[in-house]
Amino acid sequence: MARKVLVLGEVREQTLRNVSFEALAAAKTVAEGGEVVAALVGKNISSLADEMLQYGADRVVKIENEKLKAYTPDGYSQALLAVIESEKPGGIVFGHTALGKDLSPKLAAKLNTGLISDATNVEIAGGNIVFTRPIYSGKAFEKKIVTGDIIFATIRPNNIASLEKDESHTGEISSLSVDIKDLRTIVKEVIRKATEGVDLSEAKVIVAGGRGVKSSNGFEPLKELANVLGGAIGASRGACDADYCDYSLQIGQTGKVVTPDLYIACGISGAIQHLAGMSNSKVIVAINKDPEANIFKIADYGIVGDLFEVVPLLTQEFKKLNV
Ligand code: FAD
Repeated sequence: MARKVLVLGEVREQTLRNVSFEALAAAKTVAEGGEVVAALVGKNISSLADEMLQYGADRVVKIENEKLKAYTPDGYSQALLAVIESEKPGGIVFGHTALGKDLSPKLAAKLNTGLISDATNVEIAGGNIVFTRPIYSGKAFEKKIVTGDIIFATIRPNNIASLEKDESHTGEISSLSVDIKDLRTIVKEVIRKATEGVDLSEAKVIVAGGRGVKSSNGFEPLKELANVLGGAIGASRGACDADYCDYSLQIGQTGKVVTPDLYIACGISGAIQHLAGMSNSKVIVAINKDPEANIFKIADYGIVGDLFEVVPLLTQEFKKLNV
């Protein structure tokens, strides 16, 4: 049954996050031939509307307001409830990002509907909309048939391929004026931590260090490898607890969940809590000097050796390949 599906275009520093395009692709499936409408919320976001159209949105609704220039749960939920009220979608798809995780349960509760959280796939099977999502910290996957007046889901970044960008695709871009009131949180200033390079949650390649890197300087060879591969740096909690790096790099059950194409684990033992955040990576390479390390059980390629010898060798070889 064709239905209208609303997608939130997530904006960070005046740029759309990739997961917005992946959400559009997921929305196409959920729409079953119906219309896909993108919502853009914020300030000075007009220039981003075309990109949502080029990645598959049929139409874009912008809600621009001074009070929406930074994310607040109150402000965004008022804006999105207003779009939902005016569009009456039969489906809603957000990215399973910090923002999506915060906002979606709040909206689902207001709409009195269920929420499929952290989906890694959506398909039509046997005439039903079926979402796949990880359970038990990624050790198993469940498939959920979803019905109802509003099918609401968040999708994990890097799992559902976005549609090919079509620069000739256009569509209607309209504005919705929303009177945003009673913000209980006001963002006065955003102080960014100095992070280098690629965003961890959307990176295609991650080079992660564990307690085996032994110091913050021990991350240097990993950073060189990540640079050559155009990847991001990640870490185990062991490395964060030891103060070798910032907690924003932590991957795992209580850190970020990532699904890159390539995950290179260096000096990480492979505790279950770490695996919960990275075991669904497409290709896992483990470098560890202990041949019995648990990480080798889930690695596609294992290198038993000292990371301080192996990592620079890999960097050298990748440099030759000009990847
Ligand atoms: P270790 O377990 O100490 O492993 C270091 C590894 O480095 C060893 O395997 C060693 O052989 C290898 N090594 C040492 N020197 C070298 C060298 N020169 N070359 C190559 N290899 C070398 N952990 C997470 O990562 N993420 C989480 O989100 C997380 N959440 C948690 C939540 C809870 C509630 C709890 C209880 C724990 C959590 N942990 C988490 C901690 C987790 O249990 C482990 O303690 C942690 O992952 C270990 O980090 P590590 O692998 O870096 O350190």
